[in-house]
Amino acid sequence: MIRFIDLRSDTVTKPTEGMRRAIAEAEVGDDVYGEDPTVNRLQEKVAQLLGKEASLFVPSGTMANQLAIKSQTQPGDEVIIEATSHPFNFEGGAGAALSGIQFYCIKGERGIIKASQIEEAIRPKDHHYPVTRLICLENTHNRGGGTIFPIGEIEAISRLAKERGLLVHLDGARLWNASVASGIPLHEYARWCDSVSVCLSKGLGAPIGSLIAGSKELIHRVHRFRKMFGGGMRQVGILAAAGLYAIEHHIDRLKEDHENAKKLARGLAELKGVKIHPEQVETNIVIFEIEDSQINAFQLAEEMKKFGVLIHAIGRRMIRLVTHLDVTQEDIGVTLEGFERVLGRK
Ligand SMILES: *Cc1c(COP(=O)(O)O)cnc(C)c1O
Repeated sequence: MIRFIDLRSDTVTKPTEGMRRAIAEAEVGDDVYGEDPTVNRLQEKVAQLLGKEASLFVPSGTMANQLAIKSQTQPGDEVIIEATSHPFNFEGGAGAALSGIQFYCIKGERGIIKASQIEEAIRPKDHHYPVTRLICLENTHNRGGGTIFPIGEIEAISRLAKERGLLVHLDGARLWNASVASGIPLHEYARWCDSVSVCLSKGLGAPIGSLIAGSKELIHRVHRFRKMFGGGMRQVGILAAAGLYAIEHHIDRLKEDHENAKKLARGLAELKGVKIHPEQVETNIVIFEIEDSQINAFQLAEEMKKFGVLIHAIGRRMIRLVTHLDVTQEDIGVTLEGFERVLGRK
């Protein structure tokens, strides 16, 4: 079997030997009864890292986000969110289907929105309008290119929310990356938000799992809706063990992914028809545009397969590359060689 260098996403990682051992040795119980000791340990650990009273293990980041929305809104409410965000674009329309909310979208700068923009989007208290209830932020921002949400702006948004009686949810699928790259602790980001979701199955390399954290009272409500959404699981300590292992062993190494992403971006900047700003690459995601009309993004993705490299065309002109646990520094060299062979140097 040939080994592909898979840069399509950081979700493609496979469990390491050590993680598989942790899975095999996990102590388990029925988590629907709250009796899985490994799940309980993971939930306590993540709550502690995020500085929240409680957290709950769920199958996916999508479920975590949707539970946050469901448990903090009423049907007909409005949720302010960035236009290229994950919950609005990549969760199958779940906000409308499962919670009956509507999104009010704001265009951000590489995914980052400002308190002043949000202030303008808050509806007047008048019966003509929907009720603005929740603000969703994303850190790092996926489609924005792994952008780190500036902590000062999060604080400003949080203060505005409090003043106006709104709640804040942080989609922190890649909050680990933001924290490692910025040096700001996870709980510093989380303290400004009522609910926070984090993914174990992205850069941390676990096969499955996300958590949602918040106050005890919120998590109590989330727990009920998790059951309703079909996310109550049984001897799931085998998965929580992978998550605990990932938290212990795979957070600090994220800086290697960030270095690899920067190296990729700098190399790409030297190639013909590539429009990229390497200084904008802050974490493990590299998004670039192909100006050249000779080849489009889909064709480039096909060509790169010949070099053993899988990449993700996110539009006719846009490519997304994501570095992770299963991509080495040497792989970056091989990838850049492939790109150079296809596109040529400037
Ligand atoms: C991946 C991702 C999610 C959740 O994805 P799942 O595939 O449902 O686990 C949520 N938000 C962001 C920003 C993501 O990148």
